[in-house]
This record gives sequence, structure tokens and C-alpha cells, in this order.
Amino acid sequence: MAERDLVWEHGENKHPGFRCKYCLREKKGGGATRFKEHLAGRGREVVHCDHVPVEVRDYFRCELDRIQGRKKAIAEEKYRKEQAASHIDLTSDDELAEAIALSKAEAEFRRRTGDRYGHGGGSGSGGGSGGIKVSLGELLR
Ligand SMILES: [Zn+2]
Repeated sequence: MAERDLVWEHGENKHPGFRCKYCLREKKGGGATRFKEHLAGRGREVVHCDHVPVEVRDYFRCELDRIQGRKKAIAEEKYRKEQAASHIDLTSDDELAEAIALSKAEAEFRRRTGDRYGHGGGSGSGGGSGGIKVSLGELLR
């Protein structure tokens, strides 16, 4: 359980369920929020309290609104963070794409310069691999 909720000053926590000190109704099941709904006269799944003092009822109406508002704020915050995160991802993708383009250009440049230098070296390495092939072939015989 989290910290003791103020709501339990208005009734007894039955873990789970509650007993309202105003109307003395007992409910099996539900926690602090359900009890708040009972006191506030809100919610469809709970009997509304008919003995609760008006100021207590109003207090828990505000409390429930606050909880709702906080949930909404958390959801909005989460959405905002996801948006921000996807923005960051896009940025890094751009950078990645740029890096890939650069390395491709560099590879292209090397391939061309390599070609120019390379007929000697290329045929040399070709000869080498040919040599391996030949020696493999000789081994297989
Ligand atoms: Zn009650």
C-alpha cells in the first residue's frame, strides 16, 4: 500500500473495501478511489453516500477532479515525450542517413581511385585468389 490516504479519516479501510463512517454502509471491494467516489457521489459502480457532510462531499469531488486532471496531465506528458522522442529519432536518422551518404561517397571515391591505381594491384590480388583456387583444385585432385 502507498501512503495512508486522507479519505480514511472518513471511514475504515477494509483491505479491500471500506466502511463509511457517515452512512455506515460497508462495501466489500474497492479502495480509496472507490470510497472517494462514494463520498463525492460520483461514479457508476458505487452507492453514493447520503449522509456525508456537504464540505466533505465537495472536497472529494475536487479530489476526484484533481486525480482525473493528473491522469490526463500524465497522459499528455507521456504523449509529449513520445512525440519528442520520435523527433529525436528522426534527427538521429537524418544524421545517420547523412553519415551513410558520406561513407558511400567516400567508398565510391576510393573505388574509383582504387580502380585507377589498381589494375596492377587488382590483377595481383585476382591472381592470388586464382592461385588459391588452383591450389585448392590441386588439393582436390
Ligand atoms: Zn457513506
